[in-house]
Amino acid sequence: MSFTLVSAQNGVKYMRSDIIPVRHGFATRVGGVSHEPHTASLNLAFRRGDDEQTVIENLRLFSEAVGVCAESVVSRHQIHSSRVVYADEKMCGEGYFRECDEGCDGYVTDRVGVTLGVKTADCVPILFCDHDAHIIGAVHAGWRGTASGIAAECVSKMCELGANVKNIRAAVGAAIHSCCYEVGEDFRESVTALAGEKMAREFIHERDGGLYADIIGMNRSMLLGAGVHDENIDISEKCTCCEPSLFYSHRYSHGVRGTMLSVISL
Ligand SMILES: [Zn+2]
Repeated sequence: MSFTLVSAQNGVKYMRSDIIPVRHGFATRVGGVSHEPHTASLNLAFRRGDDEQTVIENLRLFSEAVGVCAESVVSRHQIHSSRVVYADEKMCGEGYFRECDEGCDGYVTDRVGVTLGVKTADCVPILFCDHDAHIIGAVHAGWRGTASGIAAECVSKMCELGANVKNIRAAVGAAIHSCCYEVGEDFRESVTALAGEKMAREFIHERDGGLYADIIGMNRSMLLGAGVHDENIDISEKCTCCEPSLFYSHRYSHGVRGTMLSVISL
């Protein structure tokens, strides 16, 4: 199990996981056409300082690198919830080529050619696949979505569609790790309220007089709790905040940054 940093012919750099046997990719910030210092160069979200044409060109470059169709991507605005929706062909283009009022933070589908997309810049992107059942999923797990159990919710929605939890593979892309994720006491209280004291105790630790959260560990724990096998979970060791030249990091940039996209398609 491992992640590979791929350098595509068109210059885009993205990461992929060896355990996911279908087309997918976790974008880095490298290989796009954004010129602003904070969005350079593969910003994949509107309203971060690039004009829309620039973002769409970046989407085309990233899609080409991964081997999916840019128009097939579904990536609605995200609301830090545990809401996972079924995506069909009618939703292709939502978020980039068409507005959609309804937000969500995860998708499942069994439809060939529907590309699921989640946007992150420190939050945890997770891509899912049950290859036998031909069912995929994707989630954006910020701390609130993580503590609300969005990873387990996606597994549950995949199983409702016909996936077998024993066959579900989950790849957890680059995100902010506990080395850099300092939080406050209010954070610990919120996680305790949402996910319970055990989860807060296990994944929020004191260090050098500060509190540090491990939201990747939290997601792994949620996946195991949902029945996903340990050997079917692949976790990138890369911390977005430790490598600001390769990734956008909300924490590192104090919020002035571009956004990455992670995609998966049958
Ligand atoms: Zn770090």
